[in-house]
Amino acid sequence: MAQGRPLPEPNRAATARANTLRVVEIFGPTLQGEGRQIGRTTMFVRLSGCDWSCSWCDSAFTWKPGSLAPVLRLTPRETLQRLRDLGPTCRSVTISGGNPTLQDCDPLVDALHAADYHVHVETQGSRAPGWLGRVDAVTVSPKGPSSGMPPDWDALEATLRAAADPDLKIVVFSDADFLFAREVHRRHPAVPCTLQAGNRVGRDRRGRLLARLRWLAGRALADPDMADVRVLPQLHVLLWGNRRGV
Ligand code: SF4
Repeated sequence: MAQGRPLPEPNRAATARANTLRVVEIFGPTLQGEGRQIGRTTMFVRLSGCDWSCSWCDSAFTWKPGSLAPVLRLTPRETLQRLRDLGPTCRSVTISGGNPTLQDCDPLVDALHAADYHVHVETQGSRAPGWLGRVDAVTVSPKGPSSGMPPDWDALEATLRAAADPDLKIVVFSDADFLFAREVHRRHPAVPCTLQAGNRVGRDRRGRLLARLRWLAGRALADPDMADVRVLPQLHVLLWGNRRGV
């Protein structure tokens, strides 16, 4: 076919379907509950699939056999329509997972920017696709020893280099996690860093979460090398509990 000639209708439809993303849920408006964007009003697009299997994953329904939520295949246009229906005035979207960098989000990022959305991505930092450099903010969340996942320093560095405006968020359950966070911060001192008190879905109630947050605050305050990190809870869990879709 000559270049530039419009595709026949069936081919156009096939191309559009090829651009689908595997989506587990779209929800909002809500408040971003974690990291440097905490407190911001946003919509969430949660994608399926993860290349890691953290022991305390709070979104195992995106990847874990036996816990999987139904998956929708949505084009960027269909995703935009659902965002508009749910939050007509909200102009911020967080693409999360699972690990959203396993899928080609380029067309969705284009569509969101064309519709004037601020686009924020959350990933653990195992992959660095080029489109990470075209979003507005990227929260990279490497996992400490309590997750059961070994550190991948090279992948983390590549992700931070590829991301347009990265920040680090590290979940801390234990002293070993704190020391891991300290090492991450030592390696990347210029990247804004948040420590987040860990949360075991289904096991941790508010009192235990607050006790862990107090311990973490004390640990960070006593460590001069962590003077410029922030210590935070998961805001949405304090407000609404361990529920999906908030
Ligand atoms: Fe869950 Fe994130 Fe770990 Fe994947 S990287 S298993 S989504 S906590």
